[in-house]
Amino acid sequence: MYRASVETMASTCGAVILAGDPSRQVSGFVVDSRLVTPGSVFVCFLGETQDGNDYALPAMDSGAACVVMTREPSEAERAKAAEKDCCLIRAAHDDAGAFLLGLAEHYRLQQDWAVLGVTGSVGKTTTKDLLAQALATTYCVHKNVGNFNSVIGVPLTILSAPDDTQVFVCEMGMNHPGEIDAIARCARPQMACITNIGTSHIGILGSRENIALAKSEVIPWLAADASLPCCVDLEPVLALTSGDDFTASIGEAAKAAGVLVDRVGFHPDDRICASQVSLTPEGCPAFDVAFCGDRVHQELKLTGRQCVIDDLLALDLAQRAGLTLTQAASGLDSLEPQAMRAHIIQAARGFRIIDDTYNASPSSLAVAADLLCELSCEGRRIAVIGEVGELGGEAPRLHGLMGAYLAAKPIDMLVLVGDKDADAMAEAASTMGLSEDKLVRVPTAAAAASIVGPVLEAGDLVLAKGSRFVGLDAFVEEVRS
Ligand code: ATP
Ligand code: MG
Repeated sequence: MYRASVETMASTCGAVILAGDPSRQVSGFVVDSRLVTPGSVFVCFLGETQDGNDYALPAMDSGAACVVMTREPSEAERAKAAEKDCCLIRAAHDDAGAFLLGLAEHYRLQQDWAVLGVTGSVGKTTTKDLLAQALATTYCVHKNVGNFNSVIGVPLTILSAPDDTQVFVCEMGMNHPGEIDAIARCARPQMACITNIGTSHIGILGSRENIALAKSEVIPWLAADASLPCCVDLEPVLALTSGDDFTASIGEAAKAAGVLVDRVGFHPDDRICASQVSLTPEGCPAFDVAFCGDRVHQELKLTGRQCVIDDLLALDLAQRAGLTLTQAASGLDSLEPQAMRAHIIQAARGFRIIDDTYNASPSSLAVAADLLCELSCEGRRIAVIGEVGELGGEAPRLHGLMGAYLAAKPIDMLVLVGDKDADAMAEAASTMGLSEDKLVRVPTAAAAASIVGPVLEAGDLVLAKGSRFVGLDAFVEEVRS
């Protein structure tokens, strides 16, 4: 993990030391003052509602060795720094983001890691966890914790890498153009995969074409640093899903940049190909995988058919990183599902809930509805669906499509949660012929729980899915007990 004196750290990023002993050693970076531990660096970010600079005092009280500020410190802050033997530094151009990215890039360039990037519209965390699990059979692997995939999360992840790291599996998320470029500059992946190009964040990016371009910002970095030392023998590779309609254009761009393109999917021509896919009664995919004459059978512990593609992308990059198909597959089969991501909960009252409340996009909502209708079920199939955020001007149209998709499914009760976008789903579902008695419109997750909770019976299967801001996890908590 990154360790240096305040003087070295500040000079690496052009920051100015305002107070304290420049020889003080630091390690550990946080952007939330509640997470400060003695000796760590607190970096002050300007959030949507909070200014990190306002938390410099509590960070010093918690033992921070250094606070990176983006304004002039007050007298009280200087006095506290002297009292607590804490260094105060000011980020160049008052840009905390550039400070963190620059420092992480500098540190990364001193390591001989193999770095494997994972981006795409949906399935990044799942693929990242699968890939890390496969590689952990052979290497010391570091990966982002949870969904720490942003221009802040990735540098923090890099700076906290254990000293024995050989492979870093890096989830790369974005909701603005330029962010994947900034993350890739800092992480320097030699290989990457793009899970798919969907409509997540289309409200900001404007179109799927723009989303594809933004994800493709990783490409130039894959072949950029051939001379960078690496403890694993790697070629620049981009793995793509053969079924995605942007694969051809992204693949061309990658080839033009000197990157090998691997396609995975369900076609016999795919480099890694899955066949005979079935779901166990618990919703876990079982399937055969073929690669260059080799075959393995896989049974995942994750839920839903969509993880098969995530699994194939992970297999491909793991194989490119030196694992045999059998080695990689044994790691993948052992990954346990995470809470709130298509996680099936058996409620005490005898019904089951597919808890997929972590987040939602149009494509992940569709696969969740598919799972609801494919699992065996003795009672009713009930979908509790919240609005999907960050769709901008496309929101009415995409919610209409989602409503129509849900109406065409054999669902016994459709509960739509939210405001105008839930109305758009309800209207489309009605237009598609969903009868009034199957449709419930509620404003909040709490209202959904109070209406749906009492009528749930043993044998029912309930899907809960919506964007984070709808808070359907509260619905799940309420009805499961
Ligand atoms: P985020 O943008 O929140 O980081 P993510 O890209 O990391 O999302 P995951 O957290 O892995 O994605 O999965 C999010 C949702 O997408 C889950 O509901 C999951 O079941 C679904 N999903 C996972 N993989 C795929 C896929 N290949 N195609 C469609 N949906 C998928
Ligand atoms: Mg994620």
